[in-house]
Amino acid sequence: MIQQLKSRQQYQPIVNTILYDRKSDQVHYPSKNIVENLDHIPPPDYDGYPLNLYLSPKPVLPYAPTRGCYWNRCAFCHYGATQKGTAKYREKKLEQMIADLDILAEKYNTNHFAFSVDVMAPKTVLAIAKELIKHNRKYLWSTDIRVDDLFTRQNCQIIKQGGCLSVAIGLESACQRILELMDKGISPYQAQDCIHNLSSAGISTQIMTFLNFPTETAREAMETIQFIRLNMSDISLFTMGDFVLHHGSKIFENPEKYGIDRIYFPKNDDFKLLTQYTEKRHTKSERDKEQIESAYADIAVQYAPQDFPFVGGVSNNHTLLYFERFGKDILKQLNSNTDDTISEPKTFKRHDIPVMRPEIKAMAANYCLSEIEDVIERNPLNLEQSLHNRQINCELNESTKTYPQKTMYLLIQSMNWLETPQHASFLLQMCNGKNTAEDIINMISPNAWDMLSTVLNSLYSYNVLDKKQ
Ligand code: SF4
Repeated sequence: MIQQLKSRQQYQPIVNTILYDRKSDQVHYPSKNIVENLDHIPPPDYDGYPLNLYLSPKPVLPYAPTRGCYWNRCAFCHYGATQKGTAKYREKKLEQMIADLDILAEKYNTNHFAFSVDVMAPKTVLAIAKELIKHNRKYLWSTDIRVDDLFTRQNCQIIKQGGCLSVAIGLESACQRILELMDKGISPYQAQDCIHNLSSAGISTQIMTFLNFPTETAREAMETIQFIRLNMSDISLFTMGDFVLHHGSKIFENPEKYGIDRIYFPKNDDFKLLTQYTEKRHTKSERDKEQIESAYADIAVQYAPQDFPFVGGVSNNHTLLYFERFGKDILKQLNSNTDDTISEPKTFKRHDIPVMRPEIKAMAANYCLSEIEDVIERNPLNLEQSLHNRQINCELNESTKTYPQKTMYLLIQSMNWLETPQHASFLLQMCNGKNTAEDIINMISPNAWDMLSTVLNSLYSYNVLDKKQ
């Protein structure tokens, strides 16, 4: 790059380098990226870092035994040395990983490591643990993983025995439709099992999620919040961010498929990294957003240790030391000293009799109430006046005619409603005060116990169902 600048020659692409040419307002991407062979890379060199001056009882050293992502399919994801998707997955040889850890442990007098990876393959997590057990190494470590069926109860115990203190899990959403649209390749039920197995083995679980994936409705956002709430006993810590559209992701390449109609960049964003977008449909009204915010605050406060500034972030090394010293539930225990206690999640046991509350009305419609409410909110008139307003009428026609399917709504009170999956209607008919939760699920599909009990519990928490006394 320096040679090109010195000689003022025409710009030629340079490997692994993105350049912005201000004159032509062009961003030049490299024609190819060179991906290094991890086995040829020595362990990281922390010489020169005053490790003893860090405000930490012991150093926790970052170390990368793997790089890139073995899944490389999530629609929102772009990072690593690649123009699209994620960088190719690479691993060091197992014996070299252990040799690197030995060198770092001896040189910097520590046995704590944060495996700073994009996502480690589950078989490798297990293999590292087994290798550390075999060689009697007492290293303690954390890593990032994806939900996978390999995290069985037995394997999680081996992983814990091999020194794993904590894992950060990219769940993203707990709504099946959104997970499929993301191409995450997992279901909420798999996630529930995986998190439970890890937690039961004593490994702290840090769950990473985000809301507002394009087309996500309020109900779908609530499913993610509800998942955290229902699985709180197995979740040591969680984050819930906002969707960000990344250059190089599948969504950026094919926005139409994800309901995005316009992508633009703020002025002065030379490298075109701060991607902005608009969606074809409004999927959440202002009232929805308030409800989501309040439901989020209700669970977030359970993990907010206000007086402990060094603990709380996912993949934060201080958090790791807290987990080691005080156990995987420390963040919830610290919070239990405050007044912000949360009520137990409402769940049905097998022999409970769910009954639909008499004041609830169900209706099916092929329009989207959120959208209508949103249009009305943006124009502060009452519904009747709004519908006579030509502009709003057009907007409503526009949205209702494109709304793809019949949707079921449960009217909880005159101004309070819940969008519900179609398959819940049959289930609701059976909540007539005669059948137990177990009967209902067995009559519909005994093989879908997890999914149906989640729907039942979710309707219970929204006060649509009650327990017959
Ligand atoms: S989100 Fe995680 S699992 Fe999905 S492609 Fe990106 S790194 Fe891989």
